[in-house]
Amino acid sequence: MITARNLTKSYGTVTAVDGISFSVEKGEIFGFLGPNGAGKTTTMKIIQCVSPRSGGTLSVFDLDPDEHPAEIKRRIGVVPQETNLDPDFTCEGNLMTYARYFDIPVDSAKKRVDELLAFVQLEEKRNVAIEKLSGGMKRRLILARALINSPELLVLDEPTIGLDPQARHLVWERLKMLQAQGSTIVLTTHYLDEAARLCDRLVIMDNGKILEEGVPADMVRHHAGEEIVEVERSDEVLACLEEMGIRFEIAADTVLVSTSDAPALARTLLERCRPKKMLTRPATLEDVFLKLTGRGLRD
Ligand code: ATP
Repeated sequence: MITARNLTKSYGTVTAVDGISFSVEKGEIFGFLGPNGAGKTTTMKIIQCVSPRSGGTLSVFDLDPDEHPAEIKRRIGVVPQETNLDPDFTCEGNLMTYARYFDIPVDSAKKRVDELLAFVQLEEKRNVAIEKLSGGMKRRLILARALINSPELLVLDEPTIGLDPQARHLVWERLKMLQAQGSTIVLTTHYLDEAARLCDRLVIMDNGKILEEGVPADMVRHHAGEEIVEVERSDEVLACLEEMGIRFEIAADTVLVSTSDAPALARTLLERCRPKKMLTRPATLEDVFLKLTGRGLRD
C-alpha cells in the first residue's frame, strides 16, 4: 500500500524526517512510535498529500503523492492529531458535510452516516452540537468522518490522544474490526500499550530517523528480553551490579535489568545488593526505546 525510500522533509534548517524507508502491506496495522518531535506527524502529512516531501521516493497505492494527490486523497481516510470538527454543525451535520467533499449522493451519504454513527456508538448524539460531546466522543466522530468514503487506507495521527482508558479501548476495538473487514491502517502513537496491542508491525522513530522496525513482541524480546527487574537507583546498587557484571539501563531514579528469569534475579539482587525498593514486570517497548536511545519516550 505504501513504499517509502529515503523519505526526507525539511522545514528550513529543521530536518523533520531524515531519510526514512518503510513499506506498509495491505491489511496490516502499521505503527509509528516515537516521542514528541520525532517526525511522525510530518510523515503522515506527506502520505496524506498535504505536505510535499523534500526528498526520497514515496508511493501510495503505487501512485506518487506529488503527481496524483487527488486520487490518493479520494482513497484514504484521515484522523488528524487535532480535533478539527466543525463546531457549527451537529454530529450528523459534520459527517454529511464531509460526504459532500467526496461527491457522495445525499441518499447514499445518509445511509453511510447512519452506519457510521452506529459503528462508533454515537447514534444517540446524532443531533447534538460538537461542543456538547466528550473528548472521547469527538475522537470517535472523527474516526467515523474518516470512514465516510469507505477508504482502502486509514491514516491516523494519535487516534486516542487524551482519551481515558475506556474510550481508548473502544477505539482500539473499532480499529481491529476495520482491519478484520479488510482495511489497512497506518497510525502514529506515543502510547506504548497502543503500539504493542494494535500494531502488526511498527517502526520506532526518534529525531526524524527510524531506529528499529519489526513485530512489537519480537522487538521487545530482542532488545529487552522477557522481563525487567526494576531497582531503586543508589550508588551502592550501581556498584553492586557492576561488581557482579550485570548489565543495566538507568531511567531517572530507577535501574533496569533485563532477564529471562525475574524471580531468580530478584532473589540474587535482594541478597547481594540489598536495594530499598524492587519490582519485577514484563519487558515493554519503553525498554526497547530506552535501550536504543538511552532516554525514556517521554523524556
Ligand atoms: P508529536 O508527537 O509532538 O506530534 P511528531 O513525532 O509528530 O511529534 P512532528 O510534528 O512531525 O513530530 O515534528 C517533527 C519536527 O519538525 C519537530 O522538530 C517540529 O518542530 C518540526 N516541524 C513540524 N512541523 C513544522 C512546520 N510546519 N514548520 C517548521 N517545523 C516543523
